[in-house]
Amino acid sequence: MTFDELGLAAPLLRAVKEKGYTEPSPIQVEAIPPVLAGRDIMAAAQTGTGKTAGFVLPILQLLSAHAPAHPHRTRALIITPTRELAAQVQESVVTYGKHLPLKSAVVFGGVKINPQITALRKGVDILVATPGRLLDLYQQGEVRFNEIEILVLDEADRMLDMGFIHDIRRILKLLPARRQNLLFSATFANEIRQLTRSILHDPVEVEVSPPNATAERVEQWVYPVDKKDKSAVLQQLVKENDWQQVLVFSRTKHGANKLAQQLEKAGINAAAIHGNKSQAARTKALADFKNGKVRVLVATDIAARGLDIAQLPQVVNFDLPNVPEDYVHRIGRTGRAGAAGKAYSLVSADEIKQLNDIEHVIQRHLTREYVDGFEPDHDVPASAPMRKPQVHGQARMQQHHKRPAGAGDGKHTSRGRGSEGHNRPQQRSKRPGGRSRPALGQGGNSR
Ligand code: AMP
Repeated sequence: MTFDELGLAAPLLRAVKEKGYTEPSPIQVEAIPPVLAGRDIMAAAQTGTGKTAGFVLPILQLLSAHAPAHPHRTRALIITPTRELAAQVQESVVTYGKHLPLKSAVVFGGVKINPQITALRKGVDILVATPGRLLDLYQQGEVRFNEIEILVLDEADRMLDMGFIHDIRRILKLLPARRQNLLFSATFANEIRQLTRSILHDPVEVEVSPPNATAERVEQWVYPVDKKDKSAVLQQLVKENDWQQVLVFSRTKHGANKLAQQLEKAGINAAAIHGNKSQAARTKALADFKNGKVRVLVATDIAARGLDIAQLPQVVNFDLPNVPEDYVHRIGRTGRAGAAGKAYSLVSADEIKQLNDIEHVIQRHLTREYVDGFEPDHDVPASAPMRKPQVHGQARMQQHHKRPAGAGDGKHTSRGRGSEGHNRPQQRSKRPGGRSRPALGQGGNSR
């Protein structure tokens, strides 16, 4: 399948070619034709699948196909949960629309409103916005919704998680009833389905890369450690594996700040990114991470969502998320575009329940690894038998008996334990940075 065959017009094909894309991604193949045909769509797709081009390209084509009565009145509205995602989506609008006469703008909170008002007053065809700032601007009479033809709700599940449902409902009431609706969400839990029923008209359902398929592509390890040792273990992993670009997830904003400071102190360039940081600080941290000045970016789940960082070689869960699906989102940040990614989770005694929940959701037991000198006081037993034992699942899990690439090849600080039982380590090696010693205990592999 080529972009040409999807029915895209010449100015868009040129922009796509200049961007270097040779073929459309699966979500683009599935989403572009129905959007061009004017249909509503409900798409299950995560960041990293190419979903942005999946809606931006056909929107640009639809808007350029007929000239409006008044040029540069807002005809397409794209709503995203976070500032970063909004900025990235608008960048895509600019990139793919560079050979078309359409104008766009992005508005989000946390920055001055006046430059946004100035941009809006010049007229825009496509507006990308986060919900709160969009409503502010509407109340100030700076945006009009009466000519909206296309609405996109991007990462709708995250908008609900972040409590934007009331803002979204208020915005929906202000839009013309006759319009095309495109809804993207990583998951379609009940709450989202309810929302879609009230918004979408006879939608085409599009689904690519369900979460479990993502999890399959990523090599994953669990490092049982004492909570107090987590920072030291992370430092050791970064140094010994010579990681140059690693995204580390922290459950809390405070934890993210603290960890970034500890890493800096240890001589590892690090930055934290979360909702309490100013927009300027977040933009700088992301830019420094992308250009290699910052080796470790510590992020909360919400801040990390939608960050466009291509092909991360590895991610680390400094804490496990409370919601297992967030684990799947986190590890989905690595191993993109067919490359095998790696995900490392540091698990302390208080997180065993979260780990068990995760292993149930991904239907897989994760291999336990230990770092010399940091064996924990607690054991992290394998989860209880899977809730949904399946013949297929068994076959799949067998594959994970083999040691993942990289493990035990000298790059890792430690070795996995054998599968002799559930014993705790008999002796503790206190040689930080030392090599592995014979390992004992639960292998943590499938059974
Ligand atoms: P998204 O899921 O929209 O955040 O896109 C993830 C990344 O994939 C972005 O860096 C895009 O530039 C890139 N991308 C989108 N479409 C394609 C494509 N057809 N071929 C290669 N890369 C793409």
